[in-house]
Amino acid sequence: MTKKQRYQFVIDYFLTHSPQAETELRYDNPYQLLVAVILSAQCTDKRVNLTTPSFFNKYPHPESLSKAELDDVFTLIKSISYPNNKAKHLIGMASILTKKFNGIVPMTVEELIELPGVGRKTANVITSVIDNQPNMAVDTHVFRVSARIGLTTNAKTPFSAEKQLISLIPKALIHKAHHWLILHGRYICTARNPKCFECGIKPACKFYSKQWKLEI
Ligand code: SF4
Repeated sequence: MTKKQRYQFVIDYFLTHSPQAETELRYDNPYQLLVAVILSAQCTDKRVNLTTPSFFNKYPHPESLSKAELDDVFTLIKSISYPNNKAKHLIGMASILTKKFNGIVPMTVEELIELPGVGRKTANVITSVIDNQPNMAVDTHVFRVSARIGLTTNAKTPFSAEKQLISLIPKALIHKAHHWLILHGRYICTARNPKCFECGIKPACKFYSKQWKLEI
């Protein structure tokens, strides 16, 4: 199987079985998604979704969050990993959003990464989820799943994996492919004990073929 055929198989599979894939984070507007994605670093979406309703109730827009006390934000998010750093980042992010961007979340990766707590991965999530931009956020699931299937080869960094993925996934599908790979990594191709026998990708998966010494 050539790399091109592998990509085609994986894309066809997900288009058929998961056409509606989307983020599991709950949000009503770009500001809420930005807060949720910052909170989700090294934390589960489920845990974030339990926390954000009361957070958005208290801080409904960037301006209110920019004026928040650190201790108050910490208390609201203390069940989330790294609450101290994230509380600082959230207030800093809201402050720049308010002063520099009139409270509107910018929609370019370059502008977004100016905000505290926002790196390339977060910026790619925001621009792809809100604006369907062809940006691929590579988190630990996307990195692992892409390497196992053989969509990426010898990628040493998330950025290298990102470049390989966006070079071979059709532009119009990149924003969706991010969710396909994340959800596949979360529920099927888990870090430990991937569920290969129930996985529909196995006919095209390098990891599976190596394990079972199959020719694909
Ligand atoms: S066959 Fe196994 S390793 Fe390959 S994608 Fe499926 S779960 Fe992951």
